[in-house]
Amino acid sequence: MDISARIDRARLSRTLLELIAIPSVNPFGRDGDVGPEFGEVRAAGYVADRLAKLGWATEVDEFVPGRANALCRRAADRGANIDGRPAIVFAGHLDTVEVDGYDAPFASREEGGRIYGRGACDMKAAIACYIEVAEILAAEGIELNGELIVAGVADEEYRQEGAKAAKPHLPPTQLVVIGEPTEMKVCVAAKGLAAYTLSVEGQATHGSVPNAGRNAILRAAELLPAFGRHAHHLTCRAHPLLGPGVLNVGVIRGGLKPNIVPSSCEAEISRRLLPDETPASARDLVLGELEAVGGDRDWQLSDAWWAVDPYENGDGNIVAAFQQAAAAAGVADVTATGFPASSDAAYFGAPVVIFGPGSLDQAHSLDEWVEVDEMVSATAAYLRFVLDRLA
Ligand SMILES: [Zn+2]
Repeated sequence: MDISARIDRARLSRTLLELIAIPSVNPFGRDGDVGPEFGEVRAAGYVADRLAKLGWATEVDEFVPGRANALCRRAADRGANIDGRPAIVFAGHLDTVEVDGYDAPFASREEGGRIYGRGACDMKAAIACYIEVAEILAAEGIELNGELIVAGVADEEYRQEGAKAAKPHLPPTQLVVIGEPTEMKVCVAAKGLAAYTLSVEGQATHGSVPNAGRNAILRAAELLPAFGRHAHHLTCRAHPLLGPGVLNVGVIRGGLKPNIVPSSCEAEISRRLLPDETPASARDLVLGELEAVGGDRDWQLSDAWWAVDPYENGDGNIVAAFQQAAAAAGVADVTATGFPASSDAAYFGAPVVIFGPGSLDQAHSLDEWVEVDEMVSATAAYLRFVLDRLA
């Protein structure tokens, strides 16, 4: 029997519709009681409840108030790890980005084979697929010779605190599957991110006597071309799966009024990091370009104040096993590639494959959707991999 024929499309859709209807917006550093649509506690509760009903050992770990992971284990029916096979972890973030400007973000709906709503593709669809795998394993009475874990984690969109909090709770793991929207591509590397601030100091004077002061905005304008040069150098050094690192100047601010010489100017930049880079090593390169501009050291480049580590899977065997399972489940192209966005991949302390339904083109947009057909295919691939490795 082809077990993927057991996927219940209506149940799978319903799970995602219900997950979208539970708001779980990331508060992005805002403290305290920021509103009912923020935080992951209720979404974590939903995942834990669904799996507890199937006999899983579940826990909602509210590691800081309002922020929670769902950690759910399906211990092998014949005793956990009966033959010592390392666990498989299906991981996914429960948080979504903000909904400003989004018309009815939580009024999930299915239309024309797609499911719409905030979090549809990024990444509640994959969480729904994980639950469907659990439903099928339970309905078919399939015994596993190792642990299958579903980890719904908080805070992927900002500081990855959920994945960091989940890591010490995980047993030895052969593969963490993260169902981010990869358009069903098998991604084995992901770029990281580091953000820095360039602060330029000047001296304020009346705008009628500018030579009596030092104009921080004009000084910043002398320094900014260093970023362009650095961005150009990056294009000469590409990772085979991820391409080159990238620099973006995202924010500039300075000055008070047109008739005052500005005493300060700041530029915020972000660097997408390749797997062999760290926030500190990337900063050194940017610093070198700024220093080459010369002149007074009337500026400072901060350390990274926001960073997501890059990731690369060095375990070819487990990647091949996942590719094989996905191909057997009908995924047309299982060539290993890179995930261009940042993710939780570096924080689980185990090999990771990023593979899931939906596209980054819709993620974070004001019209998020995912194809139900892709969710069915992803579920088949996840299920096949579990059966290949643990059954
Ligand atoms: Zn995501």
